[in-house]
Amino acid sequence: MKKLALTKGLGIILLLTVLLAACSGNESAPANETTDDNKGKPQLIQETEHAQFYSPDSKEDVSEAVTILGEAFENNYKRITELFRFEAADKTVIHVYTDKAEFEKMIGRSTEGTYVAEENIIKVFTPSDLADAAVKENYTDQIIHEFVHAVILQVNSTVGYVKWLDEGSAYYASNQLQKELQSKTAFLDLPDMDQLTSPEYFEEAGNTAYFYSGTIIKFIVDKYGEDAWNEILRQPDAIEEILKEPIEGVYEKWKSYLDNGLS
Ligand SMILES: [Zn+2]
Repeated sequence: MKKLALTKGLGIILLLTVLLAACSGNESAPANETTDDNKGKPQLIQETEHAQFYSPDSKEDVSEAVTILGEAFENNYKRITELFRFEAADKTVIHVYTDKAEFEKMIGRSTEGTYVAEENIIKVFTPSDLADAAVKENYTDQIIHEFVHAVILQVNSTVGYVKWLDEGSAYYASNQLQKELQSKTAFLDLPDMDQLTSPEYFEEAGNTAYFYSGTIIKFIVDKYGEDAWNEILRQPDAIEEILKEPIEGVYEKWKSYLDNGLS
């Protein structure tokens, strides 16, 4: 399959080269045409033990940030893959953009990071300067968050349709939840069950939706264990059988768990 696609790709490139040569015969092409064509195309910047980092930006501009992201990725790789009992066949491919406008144009919506399941590629925006500790933490957390999505969706692609489970697991396993819990003490904006199962809730509530979904995962792990969480990820429809509880009961127990200060 891969070989066939490569041959086809080469064929297209050859054809384009012929066409371009034919065009430039009549009119003089700008000297930087080839450079412009390559500009948006991510090139390999760095390879770590478990990942390949690509970027459309110049190596000088992006290398420092990629090194930092690469270290964070490798520091969390074993923990995340073991947590989800996942073994990758290949290295994780990560595309890094330091131009926010270019990144959003390429993705087609306002975001700073995503896992593109169809391509099996993590795509993130990151500032080229990560010298500020808080900024660095924000973007290293983001790459771990996206890696959790990559692992979960490779384990079971249907989790993508269960947003609280998908985002809650990413928010929890990337430790973003634990950091937010240090400053958040009151839970006054709890979603009801309809909100939790509606994709619009995530668009409307933003970070609040990630936070509460994360607390549901923490509740499941604390009360039912990591194995139960893994089973739910593999069979989201069987959640009631796995937790031996109707979903309304799970929801009520989660609310009391929050009321009791997550214990
Ligand atoms: Zn996410």
